[in-house]
Amino acid sequence: MRRPVIAGNWKMHKTLAEARALARAVRNGCAESADGAADREVVLAPPFTALAAVAGELEGGAVSLAAQNAHWEDKGAFTGEVSLPMLKDVGCGMVIVGHSERRQYCGETDAVVNRKVLATLKAGMQPIVCIGETLAEREAGRHESVVAEQLAAGLANLTPGGLLRIILAYEPVWAIGTGRTASPEIAQEMHACIRKRLAEGFGTSAGEVRILYGGSVKPDNVDALMRQPDIDGALVGGACLEAESFLRIVRFQP
Ligand code: PEP
Repeated sequence: MRRPVIAGNWKMHKTLAEARALARAVRNGCAESADGAADREVVLAPPFTALAAVAGELEGGAVSLAAQNAHWEDKGAFTGEVSLPMLKDVGCGMVIVGHSERRQYCGETDAVVNRKVLATLKAGMQPIVCIGETLAEREAGRHESVVAEQLAAGLANLTPGGLLRIILAYEPVWAIGTGRTASPEIAQEMHACIRKRLAEGFGTSAGEVRILYGGSVKPDNVDALMRQPDIDGALVGGACLEAESFLRIVRFQP
């Protein structure tokens, strides 16, 4: 049984006051859901500056807190970076690792992603590991091999037990922030392919790993996506910045 996860990636948005208000609205909305957000896990990933404030709003509730990035070292001379123990200290249990925007704009490679995944697990936290092909890679028919390479390198040296503690997010780069969603069929095809690769590398634990879809998930397409057998949730960007649209996604009806 894979409990669905709906995670909101706030990216570089929200002042402190805005962050508090959005976190409070999401927390209250989830608590009110008679139709049950209870069977699903809800995660908010605000920017570093808002983590402490959002942690305060979420305290004692059911919504989890994630960071959008972390350094793999515990401490040291890494100007501008934030470590896993610091994130844990502020109340984060999860970290998004290898988001395509970090790969694209910050030069994050699969080897860096791997260091972060292993460090996150070692810190007792849960990585949400992002993979996905660009439009050029898909048009060249390389989407499956690209994702397979990202999995092999990004999850290198992970044990089958470690695999059970990660969450994967398949996010085709051409669908992120573009309004162009992968059709439920294309997304399912890729999720099934990812699960097959995991099974080849790790054995039966692959069936228990949650694989989220990300890329222009909105209130009007989430239900169809969540009907697919290998889609276990969503990583949401644009549509998580307003409580109403995010809560509608949380309340998806498969
Ligand atoms: C994301 O940032 O992970 C994402 C999927 O963004 P959007 O929903 O805006 O495409």
